[in-house]
Amino acid sequence: MSDRLYIVVPCYNEEQVLPATAERLKEKMTALIGAGTIAKDSRVLFVDDGSRDGTWSIIAGLNAADGLFEGVKLSRNRGHQSALLAGMYTATERADMIISMDADLQDDIGAVDEMLDYYYQGNDVVYGVRSRRDKDSFFKRTTAEGFYKVMQALGVDVVFNHADYRLMSKRAVEGLKQFREVNLFLRGIVPMVGYKSEKVYYQRGERLAGESKYPLKKMISFAVDGITSFSVKPLNFIFTAAAILIALGLAGLAVTITLTALNIIPFWGIILSAMALFTGIACGCLGIVGLYVGKGYMEVKHRPPYIIEEHLSGRDDSNG
Ligand code: UDP
Ligand code: MG
Repeated sequence: MSDRLYIVVPCYNEEQVLPATAERLKEKMTALIGAGTIAKDSRVLFVDDGSRDGTWSIIAGLNAADGLFEGVKLSRNRGHQSALLAGMYTATERADMIISMDADLQDDIGAVDEMLDYYYQGNDVVYGVRSRRDKDSFFKRTTAEGFYKVMQALGVDVVFNHADYRLMSKRAVEGLKQFREVNLFLRGIVPMVGYKSEKVYYQRGERLAGESKYPLKKMISFAVDGITSFSVKPLNFIFTAAAILIALGLAGLAVTITLTALNIIPFWGIILSAMALFTGIACGCLGIVGLYVGKGYMEVKHRPPYIIEEHLSGRDDSNG
């Protein structure tokens, strides 16, 4: 008996790429079912993250034509991470293992076989890792790799160059559910769930069609979210800065007093520049505190990360 696989695909305005993606996924699933690697009633679950284009009607069409495809429609756009969660939590009711991947198939679907091998060898989590990303623009690549380095330097346990292409067993997803955070950063939480894990390497390709749904603004807020939800090191930085400031202030004072006493400079020269410097640093520190206060505020609210508007479940077409 092979296990039941769900492939979860978050989609935001992906009408251009969805038909091709669905076709490729169907080929893959058919092959895997044929080989007996996965159960016959395995499925592909598309999550429509509040798209404004024809994404949902394409998903509904796929579902009507083929029981392999399921769809979940979120009540509005909540972002990639929330859409992923909606898909994984919906799928986990029926799935033995779940693979999440982007709608544009930038992440090589060929890696699925290896992921499944590792799963059957007893791994609960298999991370897809980009071994090369020369198809990404220079900007995307440097910012993304810089981000993973900063995260690691801050002591967050992230897998380098792993995005959200991964396999998780049912019990790993159940574990994930117990992290009741609203500010979601799956790449940081999944390693915290624990269990035995493995990595699969693949080359990141180009988008099949359409444009990136991650503009710079979303990328920055995603990175800030990731850092502040997992690391309090920026808070420690305030204490270091304060210590340096006190030392500088004392030294500055000594210099001003001496130079003024010797009539070399008018006394207010240094004070003015020091004031400007210190005010700037104080504001920066306050900003960091503000980030965490804001985060706590959002967390306390316990807002649901998503609301499902509609669920089209799949069917086993072979039975009728
Ligand atoms: N996505 C989503 N909600 C959003 C933004 C993106 O569900 O608000 C999905 C998108 O449809 C895709 C995945 O997240 O399946 C990754 O987005 P994209 O490929 O545009 O990001 P990039 O590869 O450029 O980082
Ligand atoms: Mg992409």
